[in-house]
Amino acid sequence: MAEQSQPRIIETAASMRAEVRRLQREGLRVGLVPTMGALHDGHLSLVRMAQKSCDRVVTTIFVNPTQFGPQEDFSRYPRTLERDLQLLREAGCQYVFVPSKDEVYPPGYSTEVDPPAVAKRWEGECRPGHFRGVCTVVLKLFNMIPADVAVFGQKDFQQAAVLQQMARDLNVGMQIKIGPTIREVDGLAMSSRNRYLSPEERQRALSLSQSLNAAQAAVAAGEKRAVTLAAMIGETLQPQVDHIDYVAIADAETLEPVDAIGPNTVILLAVKIGKTRLIDNCLLSPTRHE
Ligand code: AMP
Repeated sequence: MAEQSQPRIIETAASMRAEVRRLQREGLRVGLVPTMGALHDGHLSLVRMAQKSCDRVVTTIFVNPTQFGPQEDFSRYPRTLERDLQLLREAGCQYVFVPSKDEVYPPGYSTEVDPPAVAKRWEGECRPGHFRGVCTVVLKLFNMIPADVAVFGQKDFQQAAVLQQMARDLNVGMQIKIGPTIREVDGLAMSSRNRYLSPEERQRALSLSQSLNAAQAAVAAGEKRAVTLAAMIGETLQPQVDHIDYVAIADAETLEPVDAIGPNTVILLAVKIGKTRLIDNCLLSPTRHE
């Protein structure tokens, strides 16, 4: 593989914005991939997606404190900056924005984004304040990095829906793209939090993708009732996980629950295995064939 040069690390909003504007004046398109670091192939797939339609890509690494609840894993969230930079270099990403907490939340800051209705259920109920923190930080990143395109992952399905709606509602002039969920070979959706899992917990975590696959197969075989599918999923998850936060079968746009599988239905799962909270999802279609 050709040796890529080290991405340029930028720490301040002022220099980041100036650099993006300079690139755009040269006629270059800029892509933005927001992350919290501890990068894996899922994140890198978003970088590659941005590269398809952009000349330069900015990846941001910021573990955003405002999207973590008081009982959540902010302080132990994995921070692996050196390795992240190496992976971004190999992926050919040109810029990494690594702001300090004060750069993002200057002293005296008090404005927040009230998330859209699609944030209300599921993650919104289990993690009060989470989407307020996500919307606020992402809108800040949009303002600090006025890119042409921003890319997010389907792995965080509700987050992607919330951010697309926020971008529409608040006239963000940036194209929002959603990249597919990247999985380990055994089906586990890649996540920075997977590294918390012991080998035994990791084995049990396969029940998420297995239950989604079983539901997809049942739908392909003609099952349309959400209640039946939710029960099936629950039966697969129950013996393996320590807590089920929710099994949602919902309209993929509004995320409101549905009774029957339609042309645009999503299954969303959130569980706890040991101390680790994991989410996964899949889109369904009654005409889908495996
Ligand atoms: P995070 O660093 O976990 O906040 O994630 C940063 C971005 O990467 C978000 O848009 C996530 O949805 C996306 N992402 C995380 N895991 C995956 C995955 N397995 N496949 C695709 N995108 C992902």
